[in-house]
Amino acid sequence: MEEQLFGLCGMNCNICEGYLAVKYDVNRQGLKARYCTGCRARKGKPCAFVKKCKFLTEGEVKYCFECNGFPCGHLQQLDKRYRTYYHMSMIENFKYIKEHGLNRFLEKEEEKWKCPQCGGVISCHNGICYSCGIDELKAVEKVRLWTKGNKSSSVMEMKEDKNGQ
Ligand SMILES: [Zn+2]
Repeated sequence: MEEQLFGLCGMNCNICEGYLAVKYDVNRQGLKARYCTGCRARKGKPCAFVKKCKFLTEGEVKYCFECNGFPCGHLQQLDKRYRTYYHMSMIENFKYIKEHGLNRFLEKEEEKWKCPQCGGVISCHNGICYSCGIDELKAVEKVRLWTKGNKSSSVMEMKEDKNGQ
């Protein structure tokens, strides 16, 4: 997995639905996904999370875990949402990286999120492989239309992201 795609907040953008949507260009296959090229590629257009933190926006720290306030309430909130719905934790990611380094973290992630069918990457946001799971993705998108207020889906996140821009 690419190091450039490890986010400032501890998110591994390699497994994010927004990044995987770009990587596999799923909208060309009939989906209406939100595209994101990854947190470090969005310079000048930070996500809702980064925007709220002056240490990150002003470049005083490169990653949240380098901050004196780590983990701040802001990050803990995000972390809780990811632990609850998306099978991962930014804070745990940082703890691992502190001990073993970013390279080993990315190796471990590659194994963790590898699709057993095709070897592609599974997204933490929906558990779907973006390489062989296009039909599954289309089904999920349809379901979303009928489940308004389903906070476990990424609909909430999309809203948040829009507000943040
Ligand atoms: Zn697959």
